[in-house]
Amino acid sequence: MIIGILKETTPGETRVALMPGMVSQLTKEGHEVLVQSGAGTAARAADEAYGKAGARVVPDAASIHAGAAVIFGVQPPAPGEAEAFREGSAYIGYLAPLANSRLLEVFLRRKVTAFSVEYVPRITRAQSMDALSSMATIAGYKAVLLATEKLGKMFPLLMTAAGTIPPAQVLVLGAGVAGLQAIATAKRLGAKVEAFDPRPAVKDQVKSLGATFIDMDVVENAETAGGYAREMSEDFLKREQEVIAARLPKTDVIISTAQVFGKRAPVLVTSAMVAQLRPGSVVVDLAAEQGGNCELTRAGQTVTAHGVSIIGAVNIPAMLPLDASQMYARNLTNLFLTLFPKGSASPNFEDEITRGCCITRDGQITNDSVRAARTAQQ
Ligand code: NAD
Repeated sequence: MIIGILKETTPGETRVALMPGMVSQLTKEGHEVLVQSGAGTAARAADEAYGKAGARVVPDAASIHAGAAVIFGVQPPAPGEAEAFREGSAYIGYLAPLANSRLLEVFLRRKVTAFSVEYVPRITRAQSMDALSSMATIAGYKAVLLATEKLGKMFPLLMTAAGTIPPAQVLVLGAGVAGLQAIATAKRLGAKVEAFDPRPAVKDQVKSLGATFIDMDVVENAETAGGYAREMSEDFLKREQEVIAARLPKTDVIISTAQVFGKRAPVLVTSAMVAQLRPGSVVVDLAAEQGGNCELTRAGQTVTAHGVSIIGAVNIPAMLPLDASQMYARNLTNLFLTLFPKGSASPNFEDEITRGCCITRDGQITNDSVRAARTAQQ
């Protein structure tokens, strides 16, 4: 098959969907790779590197669409860009199908088979294709660094001739992939870290990273069969806010990562709670794009309230394009090779991974949850 790599057009997007190091993995399987000139520049992957690796560099997006049967992407294409997809071609990348109904309409009309990385089932066999976890790892790491830049204080305990500097106190809310990486990074920098997550399985993981797990009586069934958190009740969230509030006067940094798949992020830090933090404290809200865990978060902005900085950074992986592209491209390559195994002309739609992440095919929405959510939206 001919695989096409477009230069991303979303403002601020620096990642590329395939790195030169993965080209040979595809060509060895008999595929051909076309790369739009400049696609990897922001991720330190020059056109020459793709050429050396065996890809063909072409000047523009039109040349990609003219040749490629499958397009690898990072951000969902704009509806106008999707019009350029060849009828019957395939797309693999982020899709956010519930937020991009116009894009979906175009893919349905042009009979594009679209695979969404957000819907790859989180089963053991699909771990090497799990772009959400890769990007969450990067976001959790970088969130801590964003906090260190804003906080007018160091993270480690230092005993010096000029006195003792106490360690920064970091509170991590939500200990999934991003939260655990934030804990590990803050610990490496010497902070004292506390964390909370309603999924019971997380407690030991938090402790094994050397952080303190905040014990709350979680009487609700907090976890879905897929390992995700369920939406917690109003009553639980109220109790959780009280537990968090009790810690705020001594907290320097909050890294919040709490999310519930397909839902608005739970509000864990209200405006009144921000006022309980000491001036100069920092909140990094990784759930900003899903509405935010802090009531004052504004996606894409840093807000100051009560002397506290609330960082609503979006698309954090694009701040580290080299490693983010490396991980994302590896996930996408593994996903593609699973969807289109050697020698097969089309994917096996009975396979759990294919079925899970295929959103549109032959002008129909094939994913049950997306179809149901769209019907509910209409
Ligand atoms: P996510 O980004 O959807 O959510 C982040 C975290 O927020 C989760 O840990 C969730 O429990 C937590 N959260 C939700 N409501 C909360 C609340 N009220 N207060 C505090 N925290 C709250 O999730 P994720 O990090 O992408 O993945 C979550 C889990 O899914 C993983 O830790 C793992 O157990 C599972 N998973 C499994 C696989 C696999 O291949 N088997 C792969 C990836 C993830």
